[in-house]
Amino acid sequence: MANYQQAVKLANKAIVLDAIRTHEPISRATLAQTLGLTKATVSSLVEELITEEYCYQTGLGKSSGGRRPLMLQFNERAGFAISCDIGVNYIFTTMSDLRGMVIFEIHRFFDTNDFTRTVMEVKSMIDTCINNMSPSPFGLIGIGFGVPGLVTKDGIILSTPNLDWHQSNLKEIFSDHYDTSIIVENEANAGAYGEKTYGAAKNSESFVYISAGMGIGAGVVLDGKLIRGASGFTGEVGHTTIVDGGLKCRCGNYGCWEMYASEMALLSSFKQNGTPREIEPLIERAETDEKVRATFEKIGYYLGIGLTNIIHTFNPEKVVVGNRLVQAKELIETEIQQAVTERTLPALIAETEIVFNENYQYASVQGLAAFSIEHFLEKQFHYFG
Ligand SMILES: [Zn+2]
Repeated sequence: MANYQQAVKLANKAIVLDAIRTHEPISRATLAQTLGLTKATVSSLVEELITEEYCYQTGLGKSSGGRRPLMLQFNERAGFAISCDIGVNYIFTTMSDLRGMVIFEIHRFFDTNDFTRTVMEVKSMIDTCINNMSPSPFGLIGIGFGVPGLVTKDGIILSTPNLDWHQSNLKEIFSDHYDTSIIVENEANAGAYGEKTYGAAKNSESFVYISAGMGIGAGVVLDGKLIRGASGFTGEVGHTTIVDGGLKCRCGNYGCWEMYASEMALLSSFKQNGTPREIEPLIERAETDEKVRATFEKIGYYLGIGLTNIIHTFNPEKVVVGNRLVQAKELIETEIQQAVTERTLPALIAETEIVFNENYQYASVQGLAAFSIEHFLEKQFHYFG
């Protein structure tokens, strides 16, 4: 019985904290009313939450007749999450507070093909974040990694088609090094979760996030849930065939979508004088060079064809285009829209909006932070609803 009562108390405490996080600033009376708990129960749970530094008391709120109530706020600086988005040609590491707000960041162009060098670079970035962390009751609450590859539901990287990683157990390597929770996710799934929690798809129940970087991946949210599939590999859309018998892809197949519509496809078109490493200078050149401009437009056309398949498959209310190709939005948007409009069934296109995430670099790291924060709170309360 004692255990049961303790479990109920912990569950109520989690619900009170969740309500403070969602509705802050909020008074004890409003909490009791909203949650259907007695004022005495709420007061005692709030006292514990304040002592444990999950929340704090702030100024006086509006009176509803009597004394003006003291308001409660979530203590977003009670701990910090570190997130690391490992792309094919960059590493982006951030530190976020418990509201998911990025408060420190390091971005570096980096060829991540060499696993050992990548791990060393990532460790040095994480250490820099830790050195910049202000004192807090919980300190580092978790580290999340987003990787371009197949990641099982248990965070094991099975394969990275665009990287020559043979040994790649990030979870084990970093668990040995840092005494905190380690989460490893596919970067497109993390991006979709970031868009759902903090970004362009915050109010969408069904949407697809397209990570258009060196490869192409998708994170699929249907009816409010991130879809993972039987093994956790939903969204490997970059390897769907778009040209029968087309270019050979690193996955072994021919004519994959990402061979025609990714940053890698774009860079490959300019390899006469050595393949350029980034698209930024090409975007600049496109302003004056008609040929460069046409190459971007072709990428847009193929992106549109692939998006048509996605819209027909998932019937999303929104498609959020993210990752590095977003920088070329001005050069590819018209072609994407045209290809989609021409090919999609009218009933489906009428419901679907295609948007670009202008803050594209934050989607994955924010998703990783959201995963770490949720995991931390679940662990603290054994229940979080
Ligand atoms: Zn492929």
